[in-house]
Amino acid sequence: MTETLAPAAPPRSALTQEVLDLYGRHVIANYGRLPLVVVRGRGAEFWDAEGRRYLDMFPGWAVSGLGHCPPRVVEAIRNQAERLIHMDNTFYNEAQARLAERISTTSFGGKCFFCNSGAEAIEAALKLSRRYLVEKKKYKFVTFEGGFHGRTFGALTATAQPKYQEGFGPLVPGFVYCKFNDVAGLRSAVDGETAAILVEPIQGEGGIRPASLEFLTAARDLADKHGCLLIFDEVQTGCGRTGKWFGYQHYDIVPDIMTLAKSVGGGTPLGVMVAKSEIAAALVPGTHAATYGGNPLVCAAGVAVFETIEQDGLLENSRVMGEYARGLLEEVKKEFPAIVSEVRGVGLMLAAELTHEGKPLVARCLEHGLRINVTHDTVIRFMPPMIVTREQLDEAVTILRKSMREVWG
Ligand code: PLP
Repeated sequence: MTETLAPAAPPRSALTQEVLDLYGRHVIANYGRLPLVVVRGRGAEFWDAEGRRYLDMFPGWAVSGLGHCPPRVVEAIRNQAERLIHMDNTFYNEAQARLAERISTTSFGGKCFFCNSGAEAIEAALKLSRRYLVEKKKYKFVTFEGGFHGRTFGALTATAQPKYQEGFGPLVPGFVYCKFNDVAGLRSAVDGETAAILVEPIQGEGGIRPASLEFLTAARDLADKHGCLLIFDEVQTGCGRTGKWFGYQHYDIVPDIMTLAKSVGGGTPLGVMVAKSEIAAALVPGTHAATYGGNPLVCAAGVAVFETIEQDGLLENSRVMGEYARGLLEEVKKEFPAIVSEVRGVGLMLAAELTHEGKPLVARCLEHGLRINVTHDTVIRFMPPMIVTREQLDEAVTILRKSMREVWG
């Protein structure tokens, strides 16, 4: 099969050209950006400066789990901004308390530390683990190939993928890498010096790869046996998109620490580390902090995220629409058996593994008004917002099919 040429790029508006030029002169080019200037978003759609509409099946890289500008979140931000945008952690603020209660009661009753991103939540989890176990001289971390935990030094070291670490050494000492879903490998990696096992219940960036029940059960048993901690990175799986509040709830295996970011803030920069109370107690004043952490504005947005999911029945919608979307992708697989080798995922966290490089497909879909993502070259990530409708999924898959036909004939 050969790739056909892409249609000619549509003309750019003066605004688009100006923004692209300003980026060229003043913004570090560390992202491979597509040449669109996005000016507005609503639900599962956004619009560019040319007025073109796009259907967004990967909103905000899983940040906009409720879609763009969810109404309750917009209202909560507006109300909070009028009263108090930022207040430091010298004092208490109501929004932080309310959000901590929501997270604690929907998960395992732990306590929250607030920060601004997934990587920061991971740093907090790593630091807490070492601090909690310092007297037992446990300091090692076991993490997994294909995992992704962020770009700061601790999170980057935890990310057992050479392509992200290249050129940044020396990394943080004390990390041991294992194959994902390899129980025997995990058993041989955990020992009396292990402070924590850090794992995503479903690897996201790694290609939507769910952990096996056997693997997570072994991780829990090993942590209990060796007196180390089990950390679940729920930055991508968290807050409902899998059809349950958190990915671990599909397995009934409770972690000691959980990290959240992305969808928990409804589009605002919010990261959270949740730890069982007795472990959390190790972070006494002065041990760890984040200046913006638990800022009233983002926490008000976070509370609105939980309210929206509850009041609009979005866990159920994620399950139902997840099944529907999966069925549509299975149909695509049937139509293109030489190109789609597997469809996998949970709820609205779905992937189609291709036998071909996925980039041309992503580009062609965008030209037709559909935004999807490719990870690890050949895995199409399909992570629609939790408010997605059947009609939107139908439209998305129609564009996907048409684009596949055009790219691979
Ligand atoms: N953990 C997981 C599972 C992620 O998917 C990501 C980002 O994609 C991170 C951590 C890092 O989050 P952030 O980019 O907010 O630092």
